[in-house]
Amino acid sequence: MARRVRLRDPESGEELDDGLALWFPAPRSLTGEDVAEFHLHGGRAGVSGVMTALRGLGLRLAEPGEFTRRAFVNGKLDLTQAEAIADLAAAETEAQRRQALRQLDGALGDLYRGWGDRLLRTLAHLEAAIDFPDEDLPPEIEARVVAETEALAGEIAAHLADSHRGERLRDGIAIAIVGPPNAGKSSLLNQLARREAAITSPIAGTTRDVIEVAIDLAGYPVVLADTAGLRQSSDAIEQEGLRRALARAETAELRLYVFDATAPAAAQGAAVWDRADTILVANKIDLSDAPPPAGALPVSALTGDGIAALVAAVAEWIAGRYDGVAPALTRARHREALEDAAVALRRARDAAPPELRAEDLRLAWRSLGRITGRAEIEDLLDVIFAEFCLGK
Ligand code: GDP
Repeated sequence: MARRVRLRDPESGEELDDGLALWFPAPRSLTGEDVAEFHLHGGRAGVSGVMTALRGLGLRLAEPGEFTRRAFVNGKLDLTQAEAIADLAAAETEAQRRQALRQLDGALGDLYRGWGDRLLRTLAHLEAAIDFPDEDLPPEIEARVVAETEALAGEIAAHLADSHRGERLRDGIAIAIVGPPNAGKSSLLNQLARREAAITSPIAGTTRDVIEVAIDLAGYPVVLADTAGLRQSSDAIEQEGLRRALARAETAELRLYVFDATAPAAAQGAAVWDRADTILVANKIDLSDAPPPAGALPVSALTGDGIAALVAAVAEWIAGRYDGVAPALTRARHREALEDAAVALRRARDAAPPELRAEDLRLAWRSLGRITGRAEIEDLLDVIFAEFCLGK
């Protein structure tokens, strides 16, 4: 219910503001409790007057996250959705926002609950076979339990083998700029960072160290790393820089291999990396009349020519890997619980006595429940007693 109101101090009767009062009766509110919202004009005097009056009624300010916490406690959200709210508040790029909204819609929670429910059903069948051995349960139960355990273990393993897609979208996709010295790597980094105009965390080392900037590249969060030039050197510091450059290039998801278009033979240096994860960039085309080597993107980090096409190519590469339809796990917390579940499922599959198998299935189910915040023994009892008419 919405109503325009004159807000008054209940003590003095003094008018404090003219605004809107919204009343959400439980349970149909964000937190599941009775909730009143006041929409004020926002002037300091009005707000502080209303706050003082509310404090006079024994009310207090909410702790950080308290509304979301209450919503979780009252069953309005699962834990993955609560986390999605935090992610949404922290989202800096479109891709992060999309992922958080999807998680808020429950896509991730539904996936885990779906597995949990299947696991629970399997466990219930097994428990029934153990607890009521003289009830003549169908002999195919054992085979069904093993098959379902196997299937669940496979699906969870596939979900885990996603190259940390969701976590990387939260933290930033690592792209390394590599290539020979003076090819224009730093210039390209500056060009990309300036173009995208969203440097959020420059981490500067020495010039021979790795320099990172976080940028929003066509809607994707990217951590660009500029690395020391790749060349043989007897200088100890430069060798260390080279070692770090190679290590960074190795762990990056995508490499931009930059070389000087006036010295195209240097493009050979890219051959050590997988072509699928390396984009060849022929820089300094403003100095070169010759066409760039096949497969290389011509740019000038000096004039900005070709940079838009390079950004488009990088965005296309990212989209090909990140714009999947399956919801991705977004936190190490999820990964850990899923790994626990997968281990328990594999143990359950290989266990001989049904009691041990049931125990491992129960552990797997608890691990899954930890992710969404639901793992009550009542759920198990419900399934057992709903699915079997044992008459006991
Ligand atoms: P890095 O060692 O690979 O990081 O190369 P730098 O970015 O430091 O560039 C080396 C030199 O090449 C600098 O003097 C730059 O100004 C110059 N440079 C970089 N990109 C271009 C370009 O596109 N055109 C021209 N003409 N010069 C460039």
